[in-house]
Amino acid sequence: MYSFYIANCNDCIGCDAIKNCKYAIFNKEYDKNKYEELKNHIVKELTGLGIHGLMMPVEIAPFAYNESIAQDNFPLSKEEATSQGFRWEDDIQMTKGKETMKPEEINDNIKDVKDSITGEILKCISCERNYKITEQELLFYRKMNLPIPRQCFYCRHQDRIQRRGPYKFWDRKCDNCGKDIKTNYSPDRKEIIYCEKCYQDEVI
Ligand SMILES: [Zn+2]
Ligand SMILES: [Zn+2]
Repeated sequence: MYSFYIANCNDCIGCDAIKNCKYAIFNKEYDKNKYEELKNHIVKELTGLGIHGLMMPVEIAPFAYNESIAQDNFPLSKEEATSQGFRWEDDIQMTKGKETMKPEEINDNIKDVKDSITGEILKCISCERNYKITEQELLFYRKMNLPIPRQCFYCRHQDRIQRRGPYKFWDRKCDNCGKDIKTNYSPDRKEIIYCEKCYQDEVI
C-alpha cells in the first residue's frame, strides 16, 4: 500500500526503494503481529478521514504542478492548478547570462563543429536559458548528421510535447474517405488527417 519502487516485497505500507522486505512500514520491518496491529490502526484512521485508498494528497507533493510532467500531459493554468489545491512555481530555476558562445557563433554544419563545443555554455534562442552539449550528444549529432540545437532541453521537450499532441481523443472524419475515426488532433487544428487505411495507401 502506498509504496513506490519496491522489489520482491510483500505486506508493505508507505515504503520506498526497498528490496526483499516483508511487513514493513515506512521502510522499517516489523514482526507479523506488530505489522497487523499498526496496519489496522493506519487503515482505520485513514478510513475515518475518508481518504483511505485515494492518491497521495497534493499538499505533500515535493514539486509544484508546473514543475512536474503533469503539466506536460494535463496542462493547467496557474489559476486552475491552484484552485485544485496544487502548488504553482512562479520562479522556475534557470541560469541565464553565463553563455560563453552566442547562438550565431555555432557552426550550422555539424561537420564544422569542434570538440570544444562541449566546454562551451550556450544560450537558448527561445528562453535564453543556458545549456550545454554533452560529449555523447555531440557524437550522436555527428553520427546522425544533425545540427547543434539552438534551443535548451526544456524548450525542445516542450516542442516535442506539442507535436505529439494531448492525451485526448476526438471523434472526427477522415479527410480523404469520410470514415469516422478517433484522433488526438482536435477538430480546430488545420492539419489534414487520414484514417489508417488512407494514410497507409498514401505513404506506401
Ligand atoms: Zn529554452
Ligand atoms: Zn480514410
